[in-house]
Amino acid sequence: MKFYVDFDDCLCETAKSFTVIAERLFGKKVQYENVRFFDLKKTFDLTDEEYKKMMIEGHREEVLLSYEETPGASFVLNELIDSGHEVSIITGRPACTYDVSRRWLDEHGLERVTLYTLDKYGRDTSPKNNRFNLELEDYYRMEFDYAIEDSPLAFKFFDHMPELKVMVFDRPWNTDYKLPGENYTRCVDWKCIRDRVNAK
Ligand SMILES: [Mg+2]
Repeated sequence: MKFYVDFDDCLCETAKSFTVIAERLFGKKVQYENVRFFDLKKTFDLTDEEYKKMMIEGHREEVLLSYEETPGASFVLNELIDSGHEVSIITGRPACTYDVSRRWLDEHGLERVTLYTLDKYGRDTSPKNNRFNLELEDYYRMEFDYAIEDSPLAFKFFDHMPELKVMVFDRPWNTDYKLPGENYTRCVDWKCIRDRVNAK
């Protein structure tokens, strides 16, 4: 089976780190449980300038490397690979963060997953200079059996695969979101994802 796995807030605790960054840079205190919008500008009530500053800070190499692993992510993915499954990480991070994101994976025992960047949110202007930086047409040529994703804004990338089983990683910004089809299920953690896959 082929797995699509999103990076931020599936493999690592990106939004939790942003709550720390927003407080450090701008004194904006928002508890993680209250991160109700995928749009962080809205969540932290930032000006355009502040938002830009926060995104630059959040994409600095040492900050990206410091993101905590979501408990169980590496264990469950390695178990899937050991069972013969293929795991691709499809991240909406800018193409220029490929090397540091690859390093994070390697440092967390995920040397065997393949990492691709895909401009999911139409905000990546960095040069795409390796075969792991996908253009949309490259992505649409790929096929998956399972997807693990937290962002409803990315669900449109599944529309061409009606058989795909989508596991939505339960997060405060998607918890009220009505899942778009019966092939979608909500998972609270990696144990739940593991159980779902093994139950098939
Ligand atoms: Mg994500």
